[in-house]
Amino acid sequence: MNIIYLLKTCEINLKGENKSIFEKQLFANIRKQLNGIKVKISGRKGRFFLKPVDNVNDETRAKIEKTLASVFGLTGYSVARIVEKDIEEIGKTVLEVVSKQFDDCEAPMPQTFKITSRRSDKSFKYSSYELSCILGKLVLDNFKTLKVNLKNPDFKINIEIRDKAVVYSHVYKSPGGLPSGIAGKGILLLSGGIDSPVAGYMMAKRGCAIDALHFETYPYTSEQSKEKVIEIAKKIRVYLPKMKLYIFPFTEIQVHIKQNCKQEEITLFSRAAMMKIASLLAEKTRANSIITGESLNQVASQTAENIRFTGSHTTYPLFRPLIGMDKQEIITKAKEIGSYDISILPYPDCCSVFAPAHPILKPLFEKVTASFKAIELDAFIENAFAKIEVLKI
Ligand code: ATP
Ligand code: MG
Repeated sequence: MNIIYLLKTCEINLKGENKSIFEKQLFANIRKQLNGIKVKISGRKGRFFLKPVDNVNDETRAKIEKTLASVFGLTGYSVARIVEKDIEEIGKTVLEVVSKQFDDCEAPMPQTFKITSRRSDKSFKYSSYELSCILGKLVLDNFKTLKVNLKNPDFKINIEIRDKAVVYSHVYKSPGGLPSGIAGKGILLLSGGIDSPVAGYMMAKRGCAIDALHFETYPYTSEQSKEKVIEIAKKIRVYLPKMKLYIFPFTEIQVHIKQNCKQEEITLFSRAAMMKIASLLAEKTRANSIITGESLNQVASQTAENIRFTGSHTTYPLFRPLIGMDKQEIITKAKEIGSYDISILPYPDCCSVFAPAHPILKPLFEKVTASFKAIELDAFIENAFAKIEVLKI
């Protein structure tokens, strides 16, 4: 079958003179996420057509549709069929598309429909109105349970007369947001937990490209913990044109912190060290922000006082998109993006292994700043940076 995809954008359409920059980024991302499937993209004003260059089989079609369902910047897409500008051909296609509505439509059993026609090629024999009437009658004759409802139909059939006739109906959902990369790159602090992948997803949706940074405390944590983080990273990568995962050897730093601070400060100081390292990585890799999965008061290290201290170790904007969400909301989102089932696998992270029984909740900023400085981590950090592992996800 000869098909074309109709792409819908939303927030991008609100952009003024910069709109074309956003569109260019969106199209580049679509092409990269399609991973080798060649397509031609045309159109304007929030209505774009994506046409596979080669004939597509069912497998390629499924790949294209999976991609379009996971590109930030798109709000939705329709699968349109292309046929000759012949009324019988168009009618036959409309009937096929109506049949498919009984599978795709959100209403349990669609009862009403509407036909919308658009005629860009004015030389076509029928006006838009005539075309809608002819095709509407055809549908009524062939599907006795269906009625026309122009105001609130269960489904719409759209016909466009261009150089060929294009017929489409259902709008499948894409994630919306802005094209990844338009906001520069964020370094995502990715643990093996539930929160951080959701945070990465949310900032990617606002246009951040993402590279992830994971702190590993092997052999205190296992090889499986690392594999788990790689699997979680893959779930975020689905929505991105590219992504790197940096595995940072944190063991010596973590042990040094433990041996040189008060018990109650271990987690806080580990977080501060992570932030310092993330900041250095952002500088080295030309990122422009840091992203964490922190949520206010979720755990001891995320009181306002502790967050202030952790955040003071970077001058980059620190994005914490989950800060006002409760755990259940985050879990729902994690299930939606498919990371939840991996996150709950029981392989411990460095935070849980080294966590003290009674972590500090309200540190005095000046006091902990001085104690943290006295630990002198710089040489350890420099040494560990040389052993950082980079994985292309
Ligand atoms: P998550 O928050 O992802 O569920 P968690 O609950 O184990 O993991 P928290 O104590 O809530 O971790 O940590 C707060 C944030 O600190 C995480 O969301 C993450 O951004 C960052 N973080 C914690 N541990 C690590 C780690 N080992 N590597 C990278 N980032 C980490
Ligand atoms: Mg958390």
